[in-house]
Amino acid sequence: MAICKHFGYPDLFLTITCNPNWPEFQRFTERERISIADRPDISCRVFHAKLKCLLSDLKEGVFFGPLSAALYNVLTKYMIHGPCGRLRPSSPCMKDGKCSKFYPKRFVDQTSFDEDGYPIYRRRNMGVAVKINDVDIDNRFVVPYNPLLLMKYQAHINLEFCNKSNVIKYLFKYINKDPDRVTATVGETYHVSESSQVVDEIKQYYDCRYLSPSESMWRIFAYDIHHRWPSVQRLTFHLPNQQHVVFDDADITTHVYLRNKDLLTIFTGWMIANRRFLDGRSLTYVEYPGKFVYCSNSREWKPRQRGFSIGRLSFAHPSSGELFYMRMLLNVQ
Ligand SMILES: [Zn+2]
Repeated sequence: MAICKHFGYPDLFLTITCNPNWPEFQRFTERERISIADRPDISCRVFHAKLKCLLSDLKEGVFFGPLSAALYNVLTKYMIHGPCGRLRPSSPCMKDGKCSKFYPKRFVDQTSFDEDGYPIYRRRNMGVAVKINDVDIDNRFVVPYNPLLLMKYQAHINLEFCNKSNVIKYLFKYINKDPDRVTATVGETYHVSESSQVVDEIKQYYDCRYLSPSESMWRIFAYDIHHRWPSVQRLTFHLPNQQHVVFDDADITTHVYLRNKDLLTIFTGWMIANRRFLDGRSLTYVEYPGKFVYCSNSREWKPRQRGFSIGRLSFAHPSSGELFYMRMLLNVQ
């Protein structure tokens, strides 16, 4: 939320999935004569490398430029939804006789927004089609994409325009939700009357989860589950002489006091910095990390040489009185 407060809400929403036919995998499987599905360690490492590459590409603004050729092949391979609907009612996306993702979409000449603010992307009726599972598929089945990204990464990359603040909720849900789980047993059925059936409550309680090989490897390699950029710095604050101090159980109180009494906190350090640096005086505490860096060793703020960071005030409950009002003040003063 601190990032949104600074930059505004997101514009794009991108999803990428691993492609088992990537040339890196094909070279390996040909040489080792083993399916890539049996080597989740390799697929995880390759996906991780591609993900890092993608993020740096996005930061450097390589994409979202003019179109290139050869696109048709990649697109028909990775970005076609279904077929579903009347063409293939057995498709997994079908719920109650309808596609749960609302495909096929309508042909439209121009991108617009529906009454709920969701985009209706341009889908031109150009008479272009591709045969998939013996059915002709046209523009109405294409999942939103970016041509250059698709060409470079050769994988399913869904890119959506998002202009609503509630997508933030969706992002947080993604990061924080547990993996999907199911409790199931395989057992024999034999005919016993209902009353004599033994109910094993312990067995019923088993709270199991299934970790796929890919997810297991991802965690064994200790790759990030989520990643945030630019960095957000949490800024603490306190009333006079109410700062937090760290001490050992065996420490003598007087020593703790003497050791801490002249030490600056990140907050009092900010006040000292405002005495020294004229440039920072127009900034609020939250804006300060954008122009200044806090060195925790020397406990002082210094003018920033490179990079960027967003500040976020730590929480204060409304019932905390003076501290709460101080937080309000820090947001403007
Ligand atoms: Zn569908």
